[in-house]
Amino acid sequence: MDFVQLQLNYMDWENPNVTSRANYGVARRHGKSITVMEPVKGGTLADPPEEIKKMFEAYRPGMSPASWAIRFIASLDGIITVLSGMSNIAQMEDNLSYMKNFEPLDEEEQKIIQEAQRILGHSATVPCTACSYCTPGCPMQIDIPGIFKAMNKQIGNGQAAEAAAAYAAAAPEGHKASDCIGCKQCERVCPQHLEITKYLAQAAEMFEK
Ligand code: SF4
Ligand code: SF4
Repeated sequence: MDFVQLQLNYMDWENPNVTSRANYGVARRHGKSITVMEPVKGGTLADPPEEIKKMFEAYRPGMSPASWAIRFIASLDGIITVLSGMSNIAQMEDNLSYMKNFEPLDEEEQKIIQEAQRILGHSATVPCTACSYCTPGCPMQIDIPGIFKAMNKQIGNGQAAEAAAAYAAAAPEGHKASDCIGCKQCERVCPQHLEITKYLAQAAEMFEK
């Protein structure tokens, strides 16, 4: 093979389910170039906890959290392409603004990313990338990534009202977190190996009580 495609991002760098750093190391030891998927972890790193956003903003005012995530990955040796899913023109323009004349992370920025990794290591947010592989086979048609996004608004940013509204939109009657029948079809196909049923029980506790 000429290259490999890996899930690499600063949040999954040491994640035991994803092992970004170790996978990157194997590819480079074999001299392979790398294309990167999930550099922003399904959008999670575009909206990290407030503490991280403040740190980024203080060092590089006006640079988006997504730019930090993508620049972290694009700064690594051997990366030939970073596949960042952009869903509107503003995101594309933001992406172009720092990738056109690319500057790798400097030493201080690397330290800031390490601090962000430390904070995320203590974060209880659900590490869902919103890939939706789990949803087509769900017999209860539960919007699993939508529910996790609502949970993360509350856990990561403490946005209780926004989180409740997001949950109401994602979980209509008959398709709530508590409607899960525990068949675990979703867990068998989740590429992040998430304990989805456990998180849904937390969501039911958080939003339905
Ligand atoms: S375990 Fe629950 S959420 Fe997962 S597929 Fe089955 S019913 Fe759907
Ligand atoms: S398969 Fe896993 S990572 Fe993908 S949307 Fe479902 S829970 Fe999230």
